[in-house]
Amino acid sequence: MVNPSRKRLVIGNWKMHGDTAFNSELLAGLRAGVADVPHCDVAVCVPFPYLYQVCSLLEGSGLGWGAQDVSEHEKGAYTGEVAANMLTDFQCQWVLVGHSERRTYHGESDATVASKASAALASGLTPVVCVGETLEQQEAGQTAAIIERQLAMVLALGRDAVARMVIAYEPVWAIGTGRTATPEQAQDVHALIRAKLKAIGAPDVRILYGGSVKASNAASLFAMPDIDGALVGGASLVASEFLSIAAA
Ligand code: PEP
Repeated sequence: MVNPSRKRLVIGNWKMHGDTAFNSELLAGLRAGVADVPHCDVAVCVPFPYLYQVCSLLEGSGLGWGAQDVSEHEKGAYTGEVAANMLTDFQCQWVLVGHSERRTYHGESDATVASKASAALASGLTPVVCVGETLEQQEAGQTAAIIERQLAMVLALGRDAVARMVIAYEPVWAIGTGRTATPEQAQDVHALIRAKLKAIGAPDVRILYGGSVKASNAASLFAMPDIDGALVGGASLVASEFLSIAAA
């Protein structure tokens, strides 16, 4: 039975995809189907330039939206960055922080990720803090140590902060590769994360799984006791597929 304080949550990460015509069609498809998944919170995290479009088209729909990154700074001379308050100006509720593509291509450290999560919370956003090991780390048996290290500075923000976050476990080797962790593999890591959350008094934080989630594998992942939903990349660009994941 689903813990009522851990309502299912499915978030789409569009990454660097979309244009106004494509988005319009995708968002119309999501709007049309969201009423069929009342048991699940559904949101999309889109590229910054499309926040206005998403905000206009999804207002009042029951769907949530957000961004894929946020500055750790409140305002100032940070060319190219986007502040948390700018996201709430477009009624964002969610923001991804520490996605593996940000850690890998933009050198984001654990300290930066914690600082971004903190900036998001200060503006009333829910940060979705992403953690996950690479294939090399997994093969070296380092998964637990990597997850613990990536979480440590976030957990150090304290119970009240962490209780307002979402954690996403995304093994890097499963992102965009078509290779999904087995439900048991994912559950093992989710249980480890849950134990850390319990230890600081925030046991009901939602923990999402991410990495090649599709309509065909979602139900078996969601059957695991510590998997509360999914962070979905590729499959979130097709309305019917994304809604089927939410329905699962
Ligand atoms: C992601 O980008 O967070 C992700 C999980 O991508 P995909 O679903 O395409 O593996």
